[in-house]
Amino acid sequence: MILSDPDEPKFGRFANGKPKKGDPKTLFRQSPKWKEFRALMIRMNNAHCELCGCHYTGKRVTQLQVHHLDPENYYLLNPVSFSVVCSSCHDVIERFVTMIKGKNWVLPNNYREWWILIGHHLSKEAREKMGVLIEEKAKKEKELVYEVR
Ligand SMILES: [Zn+2]
Ligand SMILES: [Zn+2]
Repeated sequence: MILSDPDEPKFGRFANGKPKKGDPKTLFRQSPKWKEFRALMIRMNNAHCELCGCHYTGKRVTQLQVHHLDPENYYLLNPVSFSVVCSSCHDVIERFVTMIKGKNWVLPNNYREWWILIGHHLSKEAREKMGVLIEEKAKKEKELVYEVR
């Protein structure tokens, strides 16, 4: 929480949500500083979505979005803390992040596929939570094996 405002809402908006008026994060994304950073990030990976690999040119470049890997430090513009994804992939990532944050979330059966696909697009907090759940699941499965014996 280096540069963030303690009074700001904990979550800005979802990838596909409507911008909230007066929300500091929404305002920040309209600033020249953010727009320059966004353009740099998109240039750095040659205008490809890092998840589905789709390439965008011309006006369609606006389909690409810069996703925060470290939303706790929302205003800290370090390229390693961001990934570039298309709006569709961004929705999938944010949906999964929201699910992980849920109190009663349990690992889905296909969690390995999810982990391979979007593990490196998750925030540290979400990765840690998923890591703990994966460990617990592995432990339980081991116990089951012993019981069978
Ligand atoms: Zn994509
Ligand atoms: Zn995002």
